[in-house]
Amino acid sequence: MLQKLVFFLSITFLWTQCTSEKKGNNTTNKLQNDLTMDHHSFGKPNEIATKHLALDLEVDFSSQKIKGKVSLTLENHGFTTLHLDTRNLNIQKVTLGEKEEKTVFTLEDTIPFLGQDLAIEVKPETNLVHVYYETTAGSDALQWLSAAQTSGKSLPYLFTQGQAILTRTWIPCQDSPGNRITYSARVKVPQELMVVMSADNPQAKNNTGIYAFEMKQPIPPYLIAMTIGNLAFKPLGERTGVYAEPEMLEKSAYEFVDMEKMLIAAENLYGKYLWGRYDVIVLPPSFPFGGMENPKLTFATPTIITGDRSLTSLVAHELAHSWSGNLVTNATWNDFWLNEGFTVYFERRIMESLYGADYAEMLALLGYQDLKATIESLGQDSADTHLFLALKGRDADDGMNDIAYEKGYLMLRTIESIIGRSKFDAFLKEYFHSHAFQSIDTKTFIDYFYSKIPKATLGDFTLEAWIYAPGIPAGHYENKSKKFALIDKKVEAFIKNDDIRKWDTKSWTTHEWLHFIRNLPKDLDQEKMKNLDLVFNFSDSGNAEILDVWFELAIYNGYIHSIEDKLEAFLVSVGRRKFLTPLYKGLKETNQLELAKKIYNKARPNYHSVATHTMDELLGYK
Ligand SMILES: [Zn+2]
Repeated sequence: MLQKLVFFLSITFLWTQCTSEKKGNNTTNKLQNDLTMDHHSFGKPNEIATKHLALDLEVDFSSQKIKGKVSLTLENHGFTTLHLDTRNLNIQKVTLGEKEEKTVFTLEDTIPFLGQDLAIEVKPETNLVHVYYETTAGSDALQWLSAAQTSGKSLPYLFTQGQAILTRTWIPCQDSPGNRITYSARVKVPQELMVVMSADNPQAKNNTGIYAFEMKQPIPPYLIAMTIGNLAFKPLGERTGVYAEPEMLEKSAYEFVDMEKMLIAAENLYGKYLWGRYDVIVLPPSFPFGGMENPKLTFATPTIITGDRSLTSLVAHELAHSWSGNLVTNATWNDFWLNEGFTVYFERRIMESLYGADYAEMLALLGYQDLKATIESLGQDSADTHLFLALKGRDADDGMNDIAYEKGYLMLRTIESIIGRSKFDAFLKEYFHSHAFQSIDTKTFIDYFYSKIPKATLGDFTLEAWIYAPGIPAGHYENKSKKFALIDKKVEAFIKNDDIRKWDTKSWTTHEWLHFIRNLPKDLDQEKMKNLDLVFNFSDSGNAEILDVWFELAIYNGYIHSIEDKLEAFLVSVGRRKFLTPLYKGLKETNQLELAKKIYNKARPNYHSVATHTMDELLGYK
């Protein structure tokens, strides 16, 4: 995912756990024991595992409910209770087998974050269970948008966000990333709308309003995803294309023109793309993340549609997840760095293949700035800065910050610098290949790594120092960007009152602008702020990344009151958490909580639950 919770003056481009448990002695037992280690799921797949999930759903926009049934194919090891994860679902009936015999079920007590264990009585030989249910207003994966919240303004819209543990809010299932399933779906919607999923997709609307889907590769349940709206499709290459509302389609296709090239570059690095098609859907602005790597169909924020193709590293990131994350998946949310650290590394290699090393170095340096700010915010000694997290009893979403992404990246980059790129590439290719369609934990990775790259060849480096200890270990790889070195000089010159009207900034990329703005001091006087805005037009930038860092700077420099209406317009229209967090946090830290709340009250109805959950906490609503 490209998302990131951002602390302090931080921003990144892309975006969006120890193991004292006893492990078994052989591979099968080990896997089964690992599955039970997921503290964020009630499912007990070592007793009864779900293998396939068939959805038969009807989507009712007037009541904002999804109704229907899920049929679960089971691998039953002779047990008589099936445990499923549910949260805020209305369970109506449960039946067993082809003949749909009624059975008894219990919804256990609600546990914070996790929801309720749906315990279903089955027979030792039962291999098929049907659950009839409907979603509720508390089904947090779903964001229902009114026609007014879409680009077309004429038809409603719905999208889902499953990661980390929200799939259980719209589908009763064993919602653990360690439990891989295939799925199929039949979805009925109003005739004027079209449905797409993380599966084989239609490329045009049909006139029945009924759509069928199939995902034949086993995936973790957080990757089940659906979007419904007035959608259109445009192919970009042989295997690639883009979906969007018709009003956004051409702009989106222009922005993603290099997608097929990215796919080829990715395959050249780490092996064949195993998912068939790779398409992207551009969602309405309330989408809480930069992107979500739903297989075959990345969900993306429209804030990367800038008209200058400057933010497409996000697509490289989500595409890279087709290997790291979707093909090889973190077994629990404590192991989240296995998804994101590898993906950030892979993403930057794709960007380097297409646009050169200096471009990738700029991305890496911005990421490093984020990482340092996040560590400072969490505390140098905080256990939350370990790569392997301890999220038991907490929301799985708490681990989704720069540590997994950027500390993970930095460790991999350090390994590359020690053993050399060709050796590291060979390792990664073999790692993805040998663990394809598996969910693995950190310990498994460490054992695998040392079996291929002996400790003795690594000098002072150890995986353990990065994974089980806080902060950034000494001796890590250091990025250098020639372009950013020039920008650093410009920052100095500006502080010394150089005349910025005489600067030639025509060739500056978004990344150079971001580096410039982020590195300006927090105590600039109002004249200087005003001058910056006048000459570079920051407050009216069409680029959300630039707007975000500029507003943040303006908040800390006391300039925000001059552009308050623009800040409000931005926060009301955009729901991407990475942008929201530093701005609301900045307002709070500069004693402008009242202004923050005034804007938030207006903006909140436009945000997905993932974003409101974070902002409610930040602003003291819970
Ligand atoms: Zn990601």
